[in-house]
Amino acid sequence: LIIEDEANICSFIQTLLETNGYQALVAQTCMMGMTMFISYNPDLVILDLGLPDRDGLDAIRSIRQKYLTPIIVLSARTTERDKIEALDLGANDYITKPFGTGELLARAALRVNRYGGGSLPGGVFSAQGLTINYERRKVFVDGQEVRLTQTEYNIMAFLSVHAGKVLTYAAIIRAVWGYSDYGSVKKLQVNMKNIRKKMGVTPGEKRYIINELGVGYRMLAEDEA
Ligand code: CA
Repeated sequence: LIIEDEANICSFIQTLLETNGYQALVAQTCMMGMTMFISYNPDLVILDLGLPDRDGLDAIRSIRQKYLTPIIVLSARTTERDKIEALDLGANDYITKPFGTGELLARAALRVNRYGGGSLPGGVFSAQGLTINYERRKVFVDGQEVRLTQTEYNIMAFLSVHAGKVLTYAAIIRAVWGYSDYGSVKKLQVNMKNIRKKMGVTPGEKRYIINELGVGYRMLAEDEA
């Protein structure tokens, strides 16, 4: 999904993506972009910040309340502060205009592949009896569905995309809630406790997710014992 108000840039990116095997939707206002986002659940958002109705940063904020969909900001704003603000809100990457087509394609491919989910066919994570179906946004343990809230699911999806690696509290909070807030570590821990309980993991048991005390969490990958 491309959210960009300048018609020529919009059609340029659309053509570029389509000739490289992607399907691209375009929206020329922030409001239209959000409507299309909800309707189509895209695999990647390419977002301009200077939009006619609202600031593109608002779109990052709204998306990150519920979704982990990768967002690449494409903006004429070039200061360090602008970049930090967008990344703090949960954007995954920031490209300044004017941009190179190779650069945009490379970064788009990186984000879509790294996410490994969204509505991509075959988007399933599986390890140690735990299965996550990204397309259906569902989690299973030994074939039984684990009923999670949206937030709990988003935490699981984020950990699974990076399975095997320790993710810091701040990184998880940024990805799930879209902002860094020390008060939220508690909120994250509460969500994690509920997730573990729902998956039938007893306190202290090292299954599916390892608690790296004081640092963050790590989901076990398939090849770990
Ligand atoms: Ca613009």
